[in-house]
Amino acid sequence: MKTLREIGEIRGKRVFLRVDFNVPLKGGKILDDTRIKKALPTIKFLSEKGAKLILASHLGRPKGERKPELSLKSCAERLKELLNKDVRFTEEVYGESVKKIIESMKEGDILLIENTRFEKGEGKDDIELAKKWKELADIYVNEAFSASHRKHASVHTLPRLFEEKYAGFLFEEEIKNLSKILENPERPFVAILGGAKVKDKIGVIKALSSKCDKILIGGGMMFTFWKAKGKNIGNSIVDESFIDEVKKLPEKKILLPLDTKYSDSPESKDYKEGEEVPEGKMGLDIGGKTINLFREEIEKGKTIFWNGPMGVFENEVFAEGTYEIAKSLKEAGEKGAFTVCGGGETITALKNLDLEGKISFVSTGGGASLEFIEKKTLPGIEALT
Ligand code: ADP
Ligand code: MG
Repeated sequence: MKTLREIGEIRGKRVFLRVDFNVPLKGGKILDDTRIKKALPTIKFLSEKGAKLILASHLGRPKGERKPELSLKSCAERLKELLNKDVRFTEEVYGESVKKIIESMKEGDILLIENTRFEKGEGKDDIELAKKWKELADIYVNEAFSASHRKHASVHTLPRLFEEKYAGFLFEEEIKNLSKILENPERPFVAILGGAKVKDKIGVIKALSSKCDKILIGGGMMFTFWKAKGKNIGNSIVDESFIDEVKKLPEKKILLPLDTKYSDSPESKDYKEGEEVPEGKMGLDIGGKTINLFREEIEKGKTIFWNGPMGVFENEVFAEGTYEIAKSLKEAGEKGAFTVCGGGETITALKNLDLEGKISFVSTGGGASLEFIEKKTLPGIEALT
């Protein structure tokens, strides 16, 4: 796989740049422009090298239909502000009118085309759609790592049609840092996994269980593990169909919580702590003994990976476990450990504590990062290779 560092003279060349501008929107307003900001180094680099840039992204799930509320127009406007440079926008996704705009573009000019998912062919990895995009450009660059676990036309079949193709800077960073924890991590290598469902993470748990020295399990997931051990879990969330699966994991490496904070519902204002969950109650955070136990393990780690909150941290009553883990990662990092965090809600928790900058690498790849950890490759990586 080639990276942008290896790109040659591209002055006047047409570059198709797949970005991830899948930003949260409300009434056409962008609530968080992190994703656009993350793509700026690659956009600036290519524009300054004199390419004619054609930007493409998906946004939401319009499922092949033209949904005005999922237009990328507001992203073009935001990008214009961030770059302090004109950014053109077209409501078309491909075709003659797009070609005409590109013909009129000068070196360094930027065009954003409309939502790739307005086309049914995107989700179907359709070669005909890919061919239409191919007509627009000479070079392909993928800066949408977070969409590259999908076999979709713009990240999978399209790059296969190009001779000249590259990974963007952020794409490269993701692979570099995630590979670093998978290949020869400095030991002990400690992973902390939480979040809601075992179902979403079983692949990662399995993959990490062969790489890590210790896996600490928290969040809603812990109750599937507890149930597998015969503990009472009350009304806590559980993935019944994974109970047998978790029993097969290497027991010595897996560290389960000693206690939990339980209550009536995720919205409750009070809780009790215990080593099991009574009938009718839900486990909503790890307990105090567990926090201490996990802190000790994290302190020993030289490589630490964390994905998934330890509890329903959206309610501050159940945020302690998550926030204490976040703080102990920061402290381990200060003592020289290599720390990597990923996951949408995990990053929100870090942001709430203003700790994002204290983590060695914050992976913004979401599901793609987890799949990369599991399989060490992605359809979008294969297509660039
Ligand atoms: P990430 O986005 O970081 O990968 P997930 O999406 O897997 O994390 O899970 C995050 C969600 O898990 C949070 O919204 C949190 O409320 C929920 N969660 C954590 N612990 C529990 C629990 N004990 N019961 C129910 N939900 C939980
Ligand atoms: Mg999530």
